[in-house]
Amino acid sequence: MDKIGWANGVLIDTGKIRVLLDPTPGMRLHPDWNVFITHAHSDHTYGFSTSARKYSTFETLQIHQALRNREVKKAQTLQIGDSVEIGDARIGALNAGHMLGSCQFEVETPKFRAIYTGDINCVDTLTTQAAEGKSCDYLIIEGTYGHPSYTFPRRTMMYADIIRWTMTEIKEKKVPTFQVYSSGKPQEVVRLFNVYAKLPVVCSPAISHANEVYCRNGIKLEFLDSSTPEGRKALKNGNCVYVTTGHGDHLPHNASRALATGWAIKQAFRSYTAFPLSSHADFEQLIEFVSRVNPRRVYIFTGYTDVLASQIETKLGIQAGPLPAIMQTKLPDFSQISS
Ligand SMILES: [Zn+2]
Repeated sequence: MDKIGWANGVLIDTGKIRVLLDPTPGMRLHPDWNVFITHAHSDHTYGFSTSARKYSTFETLQIHQALRNREVKKAQTLQIGDSVEIGDARIGALNAGHMLGSCQFEVETPKFRAIYTGDINCVDTLTTQAAEGKSCDYLIIEGTYGHPSYTFPRRTMMYADIIRWTMTEIKEKKVPTFQVYSSGKPQEVVRLFNVYAKLPVVCSPAISHANEVYCRNGIKLEFLDSSTPEGRKALKNGNCVYVTTGHGDHLPHNASRALATGWAIKQAFRSYTAFPLSSHADFEQLIEFVSRVNPRRVYIFTGYTDVLASQIETKLGIQAGPLPAIMQTKLPDFSQISS
């Protein structure tokens, strides 16, 4: 019997093949298991630390290894547009537009075609292209901002707002300081200042490591590492931008702190100026994406699962619901399962 559901990751099981997409901690994974990792954000990369057979794009693996400073064993990479065959299924990688190397996985079996989006962004940015929408029977899609109140401004307008705020802060002798994750958003922010402001950009070491992977993969970023003498000097002198994870870093005494997150649409952040620059699709993008893919059924994981499901059913007439849990309490013994 075919199963699609949540089992410490998104499980697709046809009885002949079983794949686990973006597994999370809590499940023992046998070396014969096939796990697929959509992108390098740490809430999606647990699979890299398991003994299972691992698949991701080359860029995702590179960013993960650069941030962990450790080589991943038994990892197989594929390019966006490529696929691998496992049993009677073909699993292909489609662009997800969320960060460098991020992909959706398409699982094509003799009976159905399912697509798991991972995290998606459906507009072009300075570092990524909009997610590809391909038709399928079952679409498993994120619902992070799947509520009608989340409509992001046009990206060019957000870029202009960020530049305007930055220039004002610099005039007031502050160091505009963006506190972000290590990969994805920071590289877009660095590129934004490279292209539109010609200001020196200083990055904390983890972000610098991810920047280097972007540069090696054709996305030009100019930056100084805050742990180098040049980086330290630039921060001391001011007239620059600082992009940092904020973990363990000493912020400049004259830092003016900013965040870039979709939550800024509805939420105020004390001590920060927040810009709604997100790497995820907003509500309208999600609806448009589902309409384009036109699946038989939609399963939604994370975020506004119920709200988005009812909106998809009302607006598009497509059956939708939260991704069901396959095993909620008893973890299965996967040691007997072969791929
Ligand atoms: Zn992500």
